[in-house]
Amino acid sequence: MKYHILTLGCQMNKSDSERVRTVIEKMGYRWTDKEEDANLLGIIACSVRQKSIDKVYSRIGRWNKCKNDHSLLTFVSGCVLPADHEKFLKLFDFVFAMSELPDLPEMIRHYGIVTRSAPVARSNDGIKDFWMVRPTYVSDFEAFIPIQNGCDKFCTYCAVPYTRGREISRPSVEILDELKQLVDKGYKSITLLGQNVNSYGLDKHGAELAFPDLLRAIGEYGRSSGNEFWVYFTSPHPRDMSDEVLEVIANYDCLAKQIHLPLQSGDDKVLIRMNRKHSMHDYQRIIDTIHRILPKATIFTDIIVGFTGETDEQFENTRKAMESIRFNMAYIAVYSPRPGAASARWDDDIPMQVKKKRLHLLTEELTRHTLQYNNKMIGQRVRVLVIGHDRKPGYFSGITEGRIVVRFASPQPVIPGAFVWLDITAAASYSIEGELINSAAILQKLS
Ligand code: SF4
Repeated sequence: MKYHILTLGCQMNKSDSERVRTVIEKMGYRWTDKEEDANLLGIIACSVRQKSIDKVYSRIGRWNKCKNDHSLLTFVSGCVLPADHEKFLKLFDFVFAMSELPDLPEMIRHYGIVTRSAPVARSNDGIKDFWMVRPTYVSDFEAFIPIQNGCDKFCTYCAVPYTRGREISRPSVEILDELKQLVDKGYKSITLLGQNVNSYGLDKHGAELAFPDLLRAIGEYGRSSGNEFWVYFTSPHPRDMSDEVLEVIANYDCLAKQIHLPLQSGDDKVLIRMNRKHSMHDYQRIIDTIHRILPKATIFTDIIVGFTGETDEQFENTRKAMESIRFNMAYIAVYSPRPGAASARWDDDIPMQVKKKRLHLLTEELTRHTLQYNNKMIGQRVRVLVIGHDRKPGYFSGITEGRIVVRFASPQPVIPGAFVWLDITAAASYSIEGELINSAAILQKLS
């Protein structure tokens, strides 16, 4: 029996998918890259973009046609909006919340034997059993660790609080245990995941570590283990970004000097309508503090253009914010209303043409800043984690601690997951190029 999963959306979904694989493989299913060979086909869905929802409908339409040819069960999980949940029940054999994953084998075994009514989502407490599932990692040097599920922030454009429920923090003992196991196995890049990662622990009201304490515990382990690895986290919320978090990062080598801090808009009135609960002044203060405490850190962000009612002037404030902050990367999205989110009740009144123009202007802005930053890296010696072969023949690619993509030539094979030193020799807007100066790490990894 074979299975295949289509994973859409963010790193959280990719991480969830690794746990889904474990549960399915324990039932005796084997992975296949070919959907047409599978007896179990699943989608880990994303509700953030309409494109992802469209993909779910087109894929299930195709899969259901295959049911005439061979035995096939289908499921969907992940971020599913309440409105889509009802529709998916008519198209998929199973629709379950991620917190119900431990029940999937029972659902599959009983399928067709008993009539099962629509699964009733358990409370978010079920997520505790989900976290106990050991993931089937798809990489042997990069991994994600979920530390929290759900969100209490209720940004008006976002459906996550409705698809994943209220915020719940995973026990720090489990997180540290998973991290140590990964490091022991030789993992080099580990990302702590949560919708609101830096409010970790707050739901436990003092009975659990707070986020800076969790980072400190990881830092201490990194220091005592003697292993080299980088730990990232995403996504934090500006409202919960304390100076203490940044100070802890500065203290430990294993805590990567890269901060992803969603801005969403550079205009205070838009931020209020988005219910972001921070102002541009607050955001700028955090950026100044990052520069002071972590002068070498790269800064990434998320921005939405064309949010309902966004005027030219308000958009211009976002452009000015980008001009002044000069991000190393910005994931810029065109606003589209998500059914179930509060802003879906408001007019989506910015024409698509205007949204696209704003997207284009911000992308140009970003490209200018990243090129300037990357140019300044020429002549520097940087530590790089090798990711794999580059598209350019004879070249490999990797990332710096600040997550800047690097390509380099190597006379000998380089194994993904090795750390190497490079002298940076050239720069483009979204990558840099370097010369390999020390192959000891490669040889060590090869031996
Ligand atoms: S902080 Fe806002 S955007 Fe992020 S998951 Fe929560 S509600 Fe959504």
